[in-house]
Amino acid sequence: MIIIGSGAGGGTLARALAPSGLSILILERGDYLPREWGNWDPHTVFAEHRYHTPEQWHDGDGQIFTPVTGYHVGGNTKFYGAAVLRRREKDFLPRHHRDGLTPAWPIAYADLAPHYDQAEAWYFTHGQAGADPLEPPRGPFAFPPFPHEPLLAALEQKLRNMGLHPFPLPLALHRNEEDPAHSPCVRCPTCDGFPCLLHAKGDAEVCGVTPALAHANVRLLTRHRVLRLLPGGDGRGVEGVETDQGTLRARVVVLAAGAVNSAALLLASADAAAPQGLANSSDQVGRNYMCHLNSACMALKAAQENTTVFQKTLAINDFYDDSGDPDYPYPLGHIQNLGKVTPALLHAQQPLLPIPLVAWTASHSVDWWLTTEDLPDAGNRVTLDSDGHIRLAWQPKNRESHQRLCDQWRKILHQAGFPMVFFQAMDISATAHQVGTCRFGEDPADSVLDPWCRAHDLANLYVVDASFMPSISAVNPSLTIMANAIRVAAHLAERFKTGAWA
Ligand SMILES: Cc1cc2nc3c(=O)[nH]c(=O)nc-3n(C[C@H](O)[C@H](O)[C@H](O)COP(=O)(O)OP(=O)(O)OC[C@H]3O[C@@H](n4cnc5c(N)ncnc54)[C@H](O)[C@@H]3O)c2cc1C
Ligand code: SF4
Repeated sequence: MIIIGSGAGGGTLARALAPSGLSILILERGDYLPREWGNWDPHTVFAEHRYHTPEQWHDGDGQIFTPVTGYHVGGNTKFYGAAVLRRREKDFLPRHHRDGLTPAWPIAYADLAPHYDQAEAWYFTHGQAGADPLEPPRGPFAFPPFPHEPLLAALEQKLRNMGLHPFPLPLALHRNEEDPAHSPCVRCPTCDGFPCLLHAKGDAEVCGVTPALAHANVRLLTRHRVLRLLPGGDGRGVEGVETDQGTLRARVVVLAAGAVNSAALLLASADAAAPQGLANSSDQVGRNYMCHLNSACMALKAAQENTTVFQKTLAINDFYDDSGDPDYPYPLGHIQNLGKVTPALLHAQQPLLPIPLVAWTASHSVDWWLTTEDLPDAGNRVTLDSDGHIRLAWQPKNRESHQRLCDQWRKILHQAGFPMVFFQAMDISATAHQVGTCRFGEDPADSVLDPWCRAHDLANLYVVDASFMPSISAVNPSLTIMANAIRVAAHLAERFKTGAWA
């Protein structure tokens, strides 16, 4: 088996399949991310962009942008904020939004629940069962929640007194609060968006690829960029892949290059038998790209310095199901803390602001991340320009809901004593939460993959990254990608055992 990509989907799949005895080769276009002081330096990460790709993509109008993404062993989980939430039960069903209806998934929450358990255990997930008012049925977390530092603890109480239901954000970090002297994670201020210098973040290198490589039947080739998949002569399967280092063959190919790159690879693999691209008889490959509507928010009061070091501990789902306004009966979204915005980080991201202003603002702010669900739209899609450039056309849905979420949160923060509240919306270059370009479903006319994430058109091609999602929900995507990879691994192991590959 060849697995293309070693991120949340590919890395987790490799770990789950390693004990099966299958001969597995992981192909990763990047290298191991170097461990160096720059991992925790805001200037290196956010001004020099040392770990992000310099690649340029085009938007729907042909304008160039540089996506905030990186190619390394572990994929984008090397940078993630490690906020790992389960989708709600309702997120698997059609749901009415301001701008339309989400499609039903071909599986229910109950199908994924045991795999969520496994993913949480592998990725060191800390949390408190029962605290999130919309949480789906689940058992206790393997690790206790991250405690809030004093300012956040006081704010949580204030929000509670205002009738809200804040809860500890589930986090995939290897922290031992009871024995801080020996804890791998030291609760530093440079986690959200940064690689972890200590390898204490539950990322797909640490929790997926490395444990997989402990098995003799698993190999990894870094710096191997897959250029196209090679269709078999009968048109019903793939024979292998062409990389920038040569051709490799396998009986099964699993694509896990991320939602944009996986779609781009299938489109780049077009040939005379499949002129629209591989696995694309439905013309759905690359379509229905979704990305969260996200805004960063800074809330300040002049009289209060914020000395919190590790801030990403609080979340609010009070507007997840509906707005609270009977005249606007639609979901608004999810709110969680950002990692603490420090003066160095703010300066790296806003180099034109005067330094004293940056220093004062960042030392007084409490920082938040607001998320609204985007909806599938066939016109939001990945295509390839004639020169092979990736083109990403994206006009997000539910903009009004996102604006209302920001307005609600501003009002609440004012009431909680923060007179100054600023928002910054993310644009198309913020591709962190990319999903949906090869959605799974029962109907081959309307989906790329079957419910086991196997291509409807090709018997030995699977896709296990964020592409498979028919809807994005308003929670962070990684835990669902990991849980789904574990679910698909069980299916693949069974096929392998029974010799039923094709
Ligand atoms: C700054 C940041 C913060 C985030 N915070 C969170 C968070 O708090 N919680 C959360 O749930 N999610 C978060 N995310 C999103 C999360 O990282 C992604 O949803 C997740 O990593 C996607 O998994 P994936 O398997 O689809 O792709 P990836 O993890 O991106 O893995 C794809 C892999 O494929 C490789 N690849 C690509 N093309 C090729 C090719 N042609 N040949 C070979 N290899 C290839 C890439 O190098 C990469 O290793 C964040 C992302 C970023 C960037
Ligand atoms: S030490 Fe902990 S908080 Fe800091 S980057 Fe690593 S996992 Fe994140």
